[in-house]
Parts: sequence; C-alpha cells; structure tokens
Amino acid sequence: MKIADTHTHLYFTSFDRDREKVVQRNKKSGVELEIQIGVDEVSSIAALELAKNYNHIYCTLGVHPCDVETCFSPNPDYIPRDFKKYKRKAHNFDELFQLFEHLTEQYPEKIVGFGETGFDLYHQNTPELLELQKNIFRRHIALAKKFGKPVVIHNRNSREQMIQFLEIEFDYKSSDSKVKGIIHCFSEDTEYAELMTQKYGFFLGIGGVATYPQSEKIREAIKATPIEFLLTETDAPFLTPQKAKQQHKRNESSFLPEVIQLIAELKKIPKKECSEILFSNAKKVFGIK
Ligand SMILES: [Zn+2]
Repeated sequence: MKIADTHTHLYFTSFDRDREKVVQRNKKSGVELEIQIGVDEVSSIAALELAKNYNHIYCTLGVHPCDVETCFSPNPDYIPRDFKKYKRKAHNFDELFQLFEHLTEQYPEKIVGFGETGFDLYHQNTPELLELQKNIFRRHIALAKKFGKPVVIHNRNSREQMIQFLEIEFDYKSSDSKVKGIIHCFSEDTEYAELMTQKYGFFLGIGGVATYPQSEKIREAIKATPIEFLLTETDAPFLTPQKAKQQHKRNESSFLPEVIQLIAELKKIPKKECSEILFSNAKKVFGIK
C-alpha cells in the first residue's frame, strides 16, 4: 500500500528522542511521501532540513494562525533539539516572508506549498486577532500565487470567517491564476465540504479526527465528496486515530492505514485502490513528480 502523509510535524520536540526510528517505521508501513508543515521560522527551517535529508520528504513554509502574535519570540520549549542554536533571521513579517521567498527560489523542488495559514479563533476570538490572521493569510496566498504552489489552510472555530474571506480573496471570476488550497484537518459538514471542493477546487485533508466516534458529520461529508478531493494526513504528533489512540498518545504517519481503511469503507472501494487514489491526489496537489 502506498501512503502519503500530507500534513505532519516530525520536527516537533516530541520526536527528538527517536525521529529517525519513526521515519523508518513510517516507511515500513508504506509511507512513501511526507509533507512537513512549517508553523513559524524555526519550524519551517527544520521542516526544510528534513526534506533535504530524505528523498520522500517535502515541506511547506508558513506561520500558523495561533502563532501570528508570538512568532518572533517563540517559546524555547518548542524548538527542536537540533535547532536550539539556530539564529532567527526575521524580526518582522516583511523579513520572514522575504526569507520564505528566497528559500523557495533556492529549493523549488523541496518546498511544495505555503502554510499552515488561515484562521483559529478557538483560544481567543477578537477582531484584532482575526485582522492579523487575515493579513498573514494574504501573504501566504501571495507566495502561493507567485510560485504556483498550494496553500495549506488551518480552519478552527472560524467557518463563517473563512467563507467571507474566500468570497473576497478568491474571486476566481476576476483572477486567472487559481491558487490551489488544502483544508487541513477537515472537521466540518457536507455543505462546507461541497463549497470548498466545488466552488474553490480545494482538497480536504482527512486524518485521525474522522475516526473518532463523535465525528459522524465528517464521515457523512467524506461520503458525499468525490474521492479526487481527499487527502490523507496525520497532523502528527497530534490527533492519533481512534484505534491507535488506545496504545499510543503520539501520532505518526505509520498509523494512517486506519484512516485509509475508514475512507475505503465510506467510499465503498477496496483499500488498496483507495490508497492509490489518495496517494496520487497528494502528488497532484503538491506538484510532486
Ligand atoms: Zn498542523
């Protein structure tokens, strides 16, 4: 079985003790493609390092919506072991996005998208925070347009805000350069899935959350969405799938067969065929040959 993990954070400190072992375990279970997702400067650099070290690993550069207020003074506890001495180059968003641009020119094969970006109004919901998240989201979209690569979109407690934002920023009628997008950790219903896939042509990242007992509406949305728009992802080390969760707190790409099994059942197709389609979707959206 060929497996793609389109959203993972293997550079997180919780993998410091056994990162290499995890990569090998993932490979053994069929993971032939991993996209490491950046959330600030250091993590984007760490994601790129992983991508440079392994043939089957690629990365994105970005600033997570939860990090827009703190990304120039990150908590040292979250910095991966090998990057404790890394000297940050950017002191503001202009410098940071310039750095992202330079890196993408340098490593166009390994940097396959921008993000994760988007909205997160779960911890805090103020007009100021939303404005800042919008501003940073726009910068990611500009890079995506410039390089013809997709944006990886995080969308938590912000369904209406996302609909309104896309309505204005993704006016495809007046724009010829369509930006591709991935709604990472898709957690909404059928109506929202339809809007994102049919109107914007976005892909939906499906991971552990879809396997949880309370996620019936997500499973209904998966059933209703053409498989061409679905991607597999872990968001490792978070969101371990239901069965793996009994034994493992930390998520990893090798647990993805549980997610593929679920999608295959919902789409009523054999697991192997399902995994092949999902794998080729991942290559397609990220432009990987
Ligand atoms: Zn993530």
